[in-house]
Amino acid sequence: MYPVMLDLNQRNVLVVGGGGVALRKVQGLLDDGAQVKVIAADPVDELRDLSARAKISLDIRHYADGDVASYALVFAATNDRDVNRRVFEDGSKAGIWVNVADDPELCSFHLPARVRRGQLQVAIASEGQAPFVVRRLRKLFDRLLGSEWAEWIVSAVRYRESVRALGLSRSEEEVRFDRFFKGTVNETHLGARVPSIEDETEWLESVAEDHCAPMLTSSTASFEIQKNLGHVSLVGSGPGSPKMMTVRGRHLLLEADAIVYDRLAAPALPCEIEASVELHPVGKIAGHHPVPQTEINALLVRLAREGRRVVRLKGGDPFVFGRGSEEAEVLAAEGIPYEIVPGVTSGIAAPAWMGIPVTHRREAVRVTLLTAHEAAKSNGPQVRWDLLAQDPHATLVGYMGVSALPGVSQQLIDGGMDPATPAAMVEQGTTSAQRHVVSTLAELPKAVVDAEINPPALFVIGPTVGHQKRLDWFSCLPLGGQRLVVVGSHKELVHTLEEAGASVVAVPFPLTPAARVVMSALPLSGCVLASAAEVDALHEELDGPMWSDSAQRWCLGLETGERALDRGWRFVHTLERVDDEQVIPLWIADQLQKMESH
Ligand code: SAH
Repeated sequence: MYPVMLDLNQRNVLVVGGGGVALRKVQGLLDDGAQVKVIAADPVDELRDLSARAKISLDIRHYADGDVASYALVFAATNDRDVNRRVFEDGSKAGIWVNVADDPELCSFHLPARVRRGQLQVAIASEGQAPFVVRRLRKLFDRLLGSEWAEWIVSAVRYRESVRALGLSRSEEEVRFDRFFKGTVNETHLGARVPSIEDETEWLESVAEDHCAPMLTSSTASFEIQKNLGHVSLVGSGPGSPKMMTVRGRHLLLEADAIVYDRLAAPALPCEIEASVELHPVGKIAGHHPVPQTEINALLVRLAREGRRVVRLKGGDPFVFGRGSEEAEVLAAEGIPYEIVPGVTSGIAAPAWMGIPVTHRREAVRVTLLTAHEAAKSNGPQVRWDLLAQDPHATLVGYMGVSALPGVSQQLIDGGMDPATPAAMVEQGTTSAQRHVVSTLAELPKAVVDAEINPPALFVIGPTVGHQKRLDWFSCLPLGGQRLVVVGSHKELVHTLEEAGASVVAVPFPLTPAARVVMSALPLSGCVLASAAEVDALHEELDGPMWSDSAQRWCLGLETGERALDRGWRFVHTLERVDDEQVIPLWIADQLQKMESH
């Protein structure tokens, strides 16, 4: 296929059809100056309106043979394929170019997708065969090409005229064009700038001996630095459940070039993040020391300086005991653009997930988010337990509080708080690994040791903890505590499993590095597979350390189950017939219960 740019100014163009698709064609054609005629039996109001304002000429009738004659181009966008075909055949006979919307067979030309910045246009086409990639590439270029290119092309046109006016040889002209291009275009980031008069004067001057060396004037050098500057988003991942991530946070993660994430934030990474995105784990991982804060700061600065769009993903909210403010200070001091995307903090979400409201009319009129840990570690400001102990109408939420709890409990009691005040501790709240104990202020430290509660966990002390038993909604869900891998896109299945309380890790195939990070972020209790191919896809992944020893393999359909057994898998359960996805969670819950009672 042969690309051309048509000058449609004052040309007669026919559009057959009067719906939304036809309307969009008409608008595009009018923008480019065409004289548009529309033939439609039942045009939409916007077309009638355009006709009333004499922008188009409109015939309200059916298409008739021969209507195509005398037009430069013809578009058909009716919802009747026979009519579209007649238009196409009429046009072909008369040697007129015809395009039928969304019907590549009935087209003698295709329209490329385009990204337009003033006179500059990028056209993208796949001969009408793969519109989905064209759409995505269009979006990509639309994002990459900033609005500055519109002004840039104007200055390029003007510069070309100045060069031509010098009457130079072809090669001398090319040198000057190179200077303009190198001095204004950032090839790595597809950025452009409009040159100053001084730049242009300098570039137009006679060619020096070393005319091949790249031209880096002082202003272009500063442009390089400016354009190279990336951006850092400090994003809160929410408390652990990937569903608790904000829409903005997720959007930024999917657009990022590099992601620097904490261990607690890992479950919230979208599995579909592409393999080309750099993933930097900086949190504490079993057996490794955490990356020191100064190194994290330096990493953020370096990545931004390299021009990346960086997401710094932190558990919960970045400004609640997350050292997000320290990172923001560094970015501000370095002049790096940044934004803060708040997250749902664990101190509110984890209690909610076990049925504890942090405020309650008449019972608690104050919530205090506190940590005993930082103070103890760094001789920083101390928590005034004596004052907090005096307020019975308040809720205390303690972060990083497992080891400090016995001391906290004692100090509050010493300060006058009722030892019978309801108190709870929740570990890994909102995740499939959530566990909790509920007790009283005096008894909680022992209960926590007995239950072997480990970080990350928070304590909640105050009268509202008394509501927990009645309001516990999560632990009674049939698949609460299950963390299940699903391969490929199974929206409906994922939805029903999640509704039943399971935490679902939906991994794309082939597996992305992000999917592997998410899988290994918390223990996996099984997988739900719907085909033999999915069994094959997951086979290599089953040795990962996060699979619990008793991970169950839930196979949908006989063939799936057979493949799992052929592969030598253990703990295989097969649901032979699946007519309705709704039954799957119940089937799994039922089997789990049977296993437990054995
Ligand atoms: N910025 C985070 C807190 C970071 S400090 C936020 O807003 O949630 C880390 C502490 O947060 C942990 O030691 C623990 O006390 C608490 N925490 C984080 N996630 C948690 C979870 N899912 N359940 C319970 N506590 C959690």
